Amino acid sequence: MDIYNALKTYFGYNEFKDGQKKLILGALKGNDVLGIMPTGGGKSLCYQLPAVLLDGLTLVVSPLISLMKDQVDSLNELGISSTYINSTLNDNELNYRFQEIRKGKYKIIYVAPERLNTYSFNNLVRDIKISMIAIDEAHCISQWGHDFRPSYTEIPRFINSMPNRPIIVAYTATATNLIIEEIKELLELRNPVESIIGFDRPNLFYQVVKVSNKMSYVIDYIKNNFMEESGIIYCATRITAESVTEKLNQQGFNAVAYHGGMNPSIRQQNQDDFIFNKVQIIVATNAFGMGIDKPDVRFVIHYNMPQNMEAYYQEAGRAGRDGEPSYCTLLYSSSDIVKQKLLIQNCTFSEQRENILYENLQYLVDYCNTNDCLRAKILEYFGETSEASNCNNCGNCLDNSEMVDITLEAQKILSCIYRVQERFGVSAIIQVLRGSKNKKVLEFGLDKVSTYGIMKEYSESTVREIIMTLISKGYILVTTDKFPVLRLSKKSVDVLKGNEKVYHKRHLLELKSPSKEKDNHASSSELFDEELFLKLKELRYSISQEKGMAPFMIFHDSTLKEMATYFPQSKAAMLTIKGVGLKKFETYGDFFLDVITEYCDKSQINPIEKIVEVALKNNDDINNATNDRYKRTYELYQQNLTLKEIAEQRNFTVNTIIEHLSKCMKNGQTIDWSRFIDNPEKEDKILSAINKAGIEKLKSIKEMLPEEICYEDIKIVIAKNKLR
Ligand code: ADP
Repeated sequence: MDIYNALKTYFGYNEFKDGQKKLILGALKGNDVLGIMPTGGGKSLCYQLPAVLLDGLTLVVSPLISLMKDQVDSLNELGISSTYINSTLNDNELNYRFQEIRKGKYKIIYVAPERLNTYSFNNLVRDIKISMIAIDEAHCISQWGHDFRPSYTEIPRFINSMPNRPIIVAYTATATNLIIEEIKELLELRNPVESIIGFDRPNLFYQVVKVSNKMSYVIDYIKNNFMEESGIIYCATRITAESVTEKLNQQGFNAVAYHGGMNPSIRQQNQDDFIFNKVQIIVATNAFGMGIDKPDVRFVIHYNMPQNMEAYYQEAGRAGRDGEPSYCTLLYSSSDIVKQKLLIQNCTFSEQRENILYENLQYLVDYCNTNDCLRAKILEYFGETSEASNCNNCGNCLDNSEMVDITLEAQKILSCIYRVQERFGVSAIIQVLRGSKNKKVLEFGLDKVSTYGIMKEYSESTVREIIMTLISKGYILVTTDKFPVLRLSKKSVDVLKGNEKVYHKRHLLELKSPSKEKDNHASSSELFDEELFLKLKELRYSISQEKGMAPFMIFHDSTLKEMATYFPQSKAAMLTIKGVGLKKFETYGDFFLDVITEYCDKSQINPIEKIVEVALKNNDDINNATNDRYKRTYELYQQNLTLKEIAEQRNFTVNTIIEHLSKCMKNGQTIDWSRFIDNPEKEDKILSAINKAGIEKLKSIKEMLPEEICYEDIKIVIAKNKLR
């Protein structure tokens, strides 16, 4: 069987996702493999598919034993016979499984790392042929990561003790360069075929929300947007998790808690109920989640700010593994920063590690305070640059709120930092600016500095908000000491001299709670028949109850939505639906066909007409939305505004405006680019750099040019000379 055949037969898919094919072929050719893919990128299929095609067995090492049963159940549903070995089995069960394994009943065995070097497992391994070892969540081997599991260090010893070294494939979603190197070294991967897929998760909407009452925001947000759909709420402490759960239940939601302080069996039950869609919301500490592969989590709310970007991205990333639009919200409050700092202070880390932790925390604080694209900020953390400067699918890119000039306020704050000789932290600076009579202020004689009281009329939170924004924009630096101090950056000089203006969103300065509804989000063109979708969901739920399985193990939401879009009424038509493989069709196909056929008859739906209608509407929606966007930018261009002025009015970056105008030019409108080039010499320099470096790599072009020439200049020259 070839790989495409296996993909359709077992998994029901026609195409590979990014990176999958390379890694699968790598393993099938006998190479080691290292796959770094974002959550939802399809890592499991990368080792499950070769496991089916290789002769012999595949061992999958995975850190979370509580999930193994689900993973194995899902595989058996797909027709891939699998089992697991971990400490939840008693001796009889274990012996029985060993016998079955020896008889060759299974293709895949999930195993907990603690089991690998046990006497009985070693004996078993000697008697059977193991072709491949897949190491899931490979970053757990790294002491630098936040998920370090000592038992992972057992893996290399186990591999080295095997008479024939199998193919080793390692997968993870979280890995900075440092961790990637460590994985390769510690797992002793031999010339692995590598694939590092971009970290972007285009189906996830990100937003940071600053509200005074978090609980009432959460209640309204879920009521308005997610009455039926599953979601996770992450809290910093067990107490908060308990109290949020209680308040949600008082409001009529169906929520359970999950944290380290609970009775383990209740906790497991809560997790199962969430996975099986018996409860809608799980309110958890960071103890919840690694390896949870519930694909239809539609929202993740961070009630408190986590420790760093890596942790945030991993937790938020549990939304939308199935690729459907899903929503990640971080509720920001400055008291959370203080809490996180205390946590760092109270641990006995080395100074070096402490500094790293402070730096990582600061990155997340900057994320919360930036006005720029949130997606770009996340990607930047992982060392990626995003192509477009406006993703159109995050709170900032879709926020049309008015921007106000805060240059004067910024100058006052920066001068104050200068006047107190860059020796104080945020709170002290605020107190000085607001003319506080606080004992410390007086003790240090700060009431004598010239900036004392120059922002009296501003509230404490407004001054703090502006300071945070200045930090995130790089005008203020924060030291990584225990008591962080504010310093001026090189960039701040331009603001102080009045050469550069600073803007901020008006509503954030007035600190009113923004009301962001799901309707404001970039909607995917979801055009399925809602009624049929609900019927199919009901059918799925009743089958899942009968079989004692989670509904998504039968079919994912995305598969049911496709059915409710294309109304398949025969086996052949059903097999074209994404997520319907041969084995699944044999088990469930007829039940679903019956519901669809009955629905079409009753509602007199002609599937062909429906499909044409969907296709046309899809096209129109996309064209209308984008054309409208470019049109508004073009109108401002016609008013003779500069790029910066257009960007300010549209609340986009200059980069995005250049992209819009380039699109207008492509559509036949005339653009006089020379309006945006201030001197012809600059253009010549850029052109000659492009000549040398080629047009593809903007970074290489930029590196050949003097510093004052920016990316925007290069893009303008490219557009003017129609080089693309
Ligand atoms: P990860 O482990 O990388 O987070 P999973 O292995 O759980 O991701 O896969 C995420 C989702 O993508 C699953 O619902 C899976 O069925 C689906 N998937 C995997 N490969 C494909 C593919 N080639 N086409 C469509 N969907 C896929």
